[in-house]
Amino acid sequence: MNKVDLKYSLDHEYRLSKILQSMTLSLLNHKENDFQEISKEVSKVLLDFTIKSQEKYKSFDAERDKEKHLEIVREQLIKIKRYINAQTKWIEKNRDNKELKKKALRHSELKGRDIKGNAYAAFLKDIVSKDSVGFVWNTVGDDRVRPEHEDRDQEFFTWKDADLLPGEDIMCRCWVEVYLKKEIRK
Ligand SMILES: [Zn+2]
Repeated sequence: MNKVDLKYSLDHEYRLSKILQSMTLSLLNHKENDFQEISKEVSKVLLDFTIKSQEKYKSFDAERDKEKHLEIVREQLIKIKRYINAQTKWIEKNRDNKELKKKALRHSELKGRDIKGNAYAAFLKDIVSKDSVGFVWNTVGDDRVRPEHEDRDQEFFTWKDADLLPGEDIMCRCWVEVYLKKEIRK
């Protein structure tokens, strides 16, 4: 069976973190954020991420695939909107905290990683699962991997049996190798 590794670089989460940090900086400086503008930037990064990931095993066809990719983006934008509201309140409450800026920026950095992970899990669930029979769980192999994910390392799951996907847990960095269906193999 044809196996494809869907490992990702840190580029997209880095870009998401930058967008969220810039949003946080505006809040810290009492400047208005334009959610439309943030949505546009986030969409660009997420679409680039899911489309490039799909292209590792199947070319992207706008007519066939676009709506599925947009659905993933929309889900993440709802989370980002909630995050901006929470971050706004948190900053207002903690204006006197000396560590405010450092903490707020760090939090946005982590949120960027979390959103990337959630988009990855949604991409697996909504797109990759239709094209493959299952996947092998992979961890990044360092000492920050959760023990529960370490237990899954190198294990094969069918999509039906997978009770959890890489990227679903907060800031999970795990990734998959998928076993493609016959008709998808290049
Ligand atoms: Zn993990």
